[in-house]
Amino acid sequence: MKVEDRKVIGIEYTLKDKSGEVVDTNVGDESLFFIQGTGSIVLGLERAMYGRPLGDSFEIEIKAADGYGEFDEKKIRKIPKSVVKNLGEVTPGMMLQAQGPDGMEVVTVTKVTETEVHLDSNHPMAGKDLFFAIRIAEIRDATEDELAHGHAHGPGGHHHH
Ligand code: ZN
Repeated sequence: MKVEDRKVIGIEYTLKDKSGEVVDTNVGDESLFFIQGTGSIVLGLERAMYGRPLGDSFEIEIKAADGYGEFDEKKIRKIPKSVVKNLGEVTPGMMLQAQGPDGMEVVTVTKVTETEVHLDSNHPMAGKDLFFAIRIAEIRDATEDELAHGHAHGPGGHHHH
């Protein structure tokens, strides 16, 4: 069986940044499961998966635009410090939930001044090239339920109803 649309794919992945530092990995843990063709993983990686056989291992460099997107200056908002004063001490690097233009979003505090807090809603890997090492651990047909929901069920999948 090969990777194609509507198949459930289980992968082992290691994501590194340009400097070679590991950003994220699931090696030694459960596989990451998704349905190919649903845009559940970054575009560049989903594209690179097509046609690959079970057990295949490969490394791929993905440009930021096909990864988590380019860094967008407009996604940095400056708010008065008084707005977050009920959260206690706010320091750079903290992640907060905030009301954004499209609903709740996770933002990173990038800067705190005497009067302002800068909140960045870019993905932490936005604007960065991604270096993935992938091993295809499982390929199977998706069930009707899974196709209807757009995500994998069962071990390694998630279910939220
Ligand atoms: Zn479901």
